[in-house]
Amino acid sequence: MRSRVATSVALLCAAVLLGACQAEPPVQPAVPRAVASTTPSPSPPVPPVPLVAWHGPVEQLFFHTLVVRPGLAFTDDTLGHSFADYSVTATEFRRILTSLWHRGWTLVDVHRVAAGTVRVPAGRRPLVLSEDDVNYYDYARERGQPWRLVTDSAGRVRAELRDADGTHPRLSDDDLVPLVDAFVAAHPEFSADGAKGLLALTGYEGLFGERLEPPDPAAADRVRRLAQTLRDSGWTLASHTYGHIHLERDRLAIVARDTARWRALAEPLLGPTDVLVYPYGGRPVAGAAALLASAGFHLQLDIDIVPRTERRQGYTLMSRRHVDGLAFDVPARLAPFFDVQAVRDPAARSLEA
Ligand SMILES: [Zn+2]
Repeated sequence: MRSRVATSVALLCAAVLLGACQAEPPVQPAVPRAVASTTPSPSPPVPPVPLVAWHGPVEQLFFHTLVVRPGLAFTDDTLGHSFADYSVTATEFRRILTSLWHRGWTLVDVHRVAAGTVRVPAGRRPLVLSEDDVNYYDYARERGQPWRLVTDSAGRVRAELRDADGTHPRLSDDDLVPLVDAFVAAHPEFSADGAKGLLALTGYEGLFGERLEPPDPAAADRVRRLAQTLRDSGWTLASHTYGHIHLERDRLAIVARDTARWRALAEPLLGPTDVLVYPYGGRPVAGAAALLASAGFHLQLDIDIVPRTERRQGYTLMSRRHVDGLAFDVPARLAPFFDVQAVRDPAARSLEA
């Protein structure tokens, strides 16, 4: 796929040469403060970054929820091997973000990719970031992952960690959303048009770590407010099906029932979404993609090792690369994004009996 990368670079150079990037950031007028305020003054406004159109392929990377306590996650048993294969640690993710920034990538909105209206700061390349299974399942909590996403008193989205028995709740930034939020705040050119990424959620163990069945009005209200905060700060919310079903082999009736269950649970709390992330990357059986499109999922995402955006009947199919322990085993594929050798944390990944 080197040819595709070469094409991207060529298009990037063309965009730079076209000179659309020559605009200077507008000067911020000094605004006198007539009255001293008792509330903390906001940070000085960041000048908007001039953006240029991008017409090449758009890369997408996806992650699962991050491993926060490697000693609990990477044990020498089936689940431990699964974490090692399908996850990265918070430390590794921090290194990946830094590398993506230094290598010229900028986060863009998945809807702009589908619409062909992607824009990036001049000289940079677009990237869609996504996180699957933002549900904080019971099995993962026991292995040191967060219990849920919460909004702190300052309005920032944080991860809530607890001890394995559910006691001692405390806030942490060791999770994908707070890490990306902080990185974009520190590096405005890492985000175009305010985009952060895509969060894909199942429903069978609730949403964002809040358990919703049987109904829990307080938990539902927390989800509703959190979803609004996330949307307002550049995150797109997506279905990952209700039951993490196998779209590549489940019958149409099962897909239809699962879709109805996801919408009944999630839409009143998350708001409508037109994005569906296939569980396991499994491409739907005949008729299922159309069924999902008719249910409103006009953007459907699978897994591949190349960037694809294909118009289909009633929907757009896009591919994402997986970033995890298995992907680390093939460093060449990730080379445009980061150096696996510099990112991988072998000490954290040594499986403990
Ligand atoms: Zn999944």
